Amino acid sequence: MKRVLICLLMLLLVLSLPAAVSAAGDQTVYGQKVEAPVSAGDTFTYEVSLKGNLGMVVGAVRVTWPVQDLKLNSIQFGSVMPDNGTAPVSSTNKGRFTVVFGSDTAKQNYTGDGVLFTLTFEVLETATAGRKEIALSCPHNADDFLDFDLNNVPTAFESGSVTVTVAGHVHDLVETPAKDSTDTEPGNSAYWTCSGCGLYFSDAEGQNEIEPDSWIIPAQGTTPSDPADPSNPGNPGADSFFEDVKQTDYFYNPVKWAVEKGITSGVSKTLFGPAQNCTRGQVVTFLWIVNGKQDAAKASPFTDVPADAYFAKAVAWAVEQGITAGLSEKEFGPAKTVTRAQFVTMLWVAKGMPAASAASNFTDVPANAYYAKAVAWAFANDITAGKSATSFAPDDPCTRGQIVTFLYNAYK
Ligand SMILES: [Zn+2]
Repeated sequence: MKRVLICLLMLLLVLSLPAAVSAAGDQTVYGQKVEAPVSAGDTFTYEVSLKGNLGMVVGAVRVTWPVQDLKLNSIQFGSVMPDNGTAPVSSTNKGRFTVVFGSDTAKQNYTGDGVLFTLTFEVLETATAGRKEIALSCPHNADDFLDFDLNNVPTAFESGSVTVTVAGHVHDLVETPAKDSTDTEPGNSAYWTCSGCGLYFSDAEGQNEIEPDSWIIPAQGTTPSDPADPSNPGNPGADSFFEDVKQTDYFYNPVKWAVEKGITSGVSKTLFGPAQNCTRGQVVTFLWIVNGKQDAAKASPFTDVPADAYFAKAVAWAVEQGITAGLSEKEFGPAKTVTRAQFVTMLWVAKGMPAASAASNFTDVPANAYYAKAVAWAFANDITAGKSATSFAPDDPCTRGQIVTFLYNAYK
């Protein structure tokens, strides 16, 4: 149990470090993933928020959406920056709209994170079923974000989405049978794909929607995929194991290590998928494997954790160890993306909840947040450097590249 906790903690540390590398100092404008499905005639709100605010006086964001499915009805500005003369939402809906915020006459930079603006969309009668991307981008490529000294503020974008269901649409589900993983090849739990709307489900009735790749079962083996001298990462032969993992990537050695240890494998034979998010089911499974695949005394109580799911034993173990409690009494949320806050907390709990010598310096970690002590501990022990000097980005998802790096730093 102690060992398990320590391992979990280490994992956390590893995870938070690479984010600082990959963020490259950009602030990020991100769109909401609207969780509840919508159908024709519904309206829903879509928040566009800012994290890692570098300080600026004006900004502009282009929002693009599928015009046959959605219509933009209205816009409301949030607390971070005011309206800076955005045109009214016109009745001619082009599927594209630029929102301008801030103030040309501001005396100092706006700082702080939060909601920039909220859009209200209506679902059209012509909408088709499926997941719809509401994409965010910069309208002019340069100078869309300026600070008080008129310097360009580097900004990254993460789009959001909404799932449209259509009255009368009956999922046409095609089963992909379960396949056991082997020493070298990943397997998968059974899942169903709707040929009409393209969504994925963990059940034949199409009741429980799941994220792409959440069905992957990592390879079990310890056989290195490349016999090259592991102490010599410069060996050109060693770079051939995944096409999307280069020797210059911060996660190069961690990926090699994780695959050799059988903690995870690629998302395919040739791809590791370092930029893909991790689900709660996947992360718990990684932790369970790295801690020796111990059996729990009893099954977990969650209705969304089928006994034959690849993550069932891992979830039961994590609950028994007190590492996670699920999202509610009945729901574990295995297909939900794991956030940095959630993961750092799992590690901290696994580690025995040690006290930190001081609070962290992160402005986006409120003192009363459930993850505050975990972040302070991780920061004090060099487990995380945060996403920047002042931000931890607790709500950011952890990518596969980050996850294996945290694991590597913790367990190597
Ligand atoms: Zn469907």
